[in-house]
Amino acid sequence: EGPKDELGRLVATLNSMLDSLETAYQELADSHVAQRRFVADVSHELKTPLTTIRGNIDLIRRMGEEHPDIRQEAMEDIASEAERMSRLVLDMLVLARADAGLTLPLEPVFLSKVIQQVGRQAKLLAKDIEFKITVEESCEQVQILADTDYVKQLVLILLDNAFKYTASPGVVELLVHCTHEHVKIHVKDNGVGIEQAELEHIFERFYRSDKSRPVGGSGLGLSIAKWIAEQHQATITVNSILHKGSTFIITFPIFQSTLN
Ligand code: ADP
Repeated sequence: EGPKDELGRLVATLNSMLDSLETAYQELADSHVAQRRFVADVSHELKTPLTTIRGNIDLIRRMGEEHPDIRQEAMEDIASEAERMSRLVLDMLVLARADAGLTLPLEPVFLSKVIQQVGRQAKLLAKDIEFKITVEESCEQVQILADTDYVKQLVLILLDNAFKYTASPGVVELLVHCTHEHVKIHVKDNGVGIEQAELEHIFERFYRSDKSRPVGGSGLGLSIAKWIAEQHQATITVNSILHKGSTFIITFPIFQSTLN
């Protein structure tokens, strides 16, 4: 297939992304909440990848014909920036829905099943970092009231961060502990850690520590995690020591345990 097809596909991806963006903006506008700051932040975040994409398209137009290597590199840059944009747009959609007052429909779910599914997905993110999962026996028959997809997203956000902010050879652990009243999901890493002064900000939209700049991310993950937790009457706490690592703990109320 020729470079024209490739470019055509990229343009199609960008167009469909712009469609979801429009939906997101519409949902934001409908939410009647003061959103100016969020919209400004989002526009700013989208401008950077768009500028890169435009620059690369220009490069391909001018030199692509004669320099296949330059064309190839430019294509790859476009693809990865487009990927970054679409992740951002999907995150914004979740937050726009949150702002519009969406409440998640919850149903009784066996926790261990959700954790198994999350574990399988997380293994793909682990790369060369060691990943351990422990679900205590006390959790086997435990049910929580949940929207399964969102709970998976919540745990995956924390795991994704744990892997991102841990250099290899590192260890990331997912530990699930249950009592009669609560389920506690621990996501523990021995990575870069978070400064005490920053801990109160990490759940804010678009907040990223200066140290994390070199690592990809939008600064939206934890604000989404917090919203999902709230929807489940769950809490997220964090303990972290700079250069030693971080532990995020989600605490869910138990819906039912057939062992009780
Ligand atoms: P992102 O990871 O896209 O920057 P998040 O909202 O998920 O956005 O996280 C916000 C910030 O919190 C990160 O930029 C990083 O500075 C810090 N952070 C989150 N998780 C960890 C972790 N496991 N270890 C160290 N820092 C973390």
